[in-house]
Amino acid sequence: MDEKIKLTETEWRVRLTPEQYRILREKGTERAFTGKYESFFEPGLYRCAACGQPLFESATKYHSGSGWPSFYAPIEPDAVEEHGDHSAFMVRTEITCSRCGSHLGHVFEDGPQPTGLRYCINSAALTFESTPERQKPDS
Ligand code: FE
Repeated sequence: MDEKIKLTETEWRVRLTPEQYRILREKGTERAFTGKYESFFEPGLYRCAACGQPLFESATKYHSGSGWPSFYAPIEPDAVEEHGDHSAFMVRTEITCSRCGSHLGHVFEDGPQPTGLRYCINSAALTFESTPERQKPDS
């Protein structure tokens, strides 16, 4: 993992769009079925929209029908951090980027195998990077 990033909220406001700031830095949620990656399944890498850390891969993305991009696992266990979230009269587990602390979404225990987890992530918290199919070393 890269070195942690710590910026003031003023610095984040300059770097991010108002919608990104609201979600990433103020723990906002985009409206269901409105995010750009909700029905998007190209092969590639999803990075933190705030700091660029790799967070998820298309191989673990699936269509949950929840209205938000859903993954069954992060790219590395330590790419994200979990926090108890008792807001909005619910008990949920919040997910943040481990490098910059920005809010990404929540994780639920109703995902598919092999993990049984559903990382429910705001599109606005992600930037997608297309990765061409990797060639096998021997081919
Ligand atoms: Fe980040």
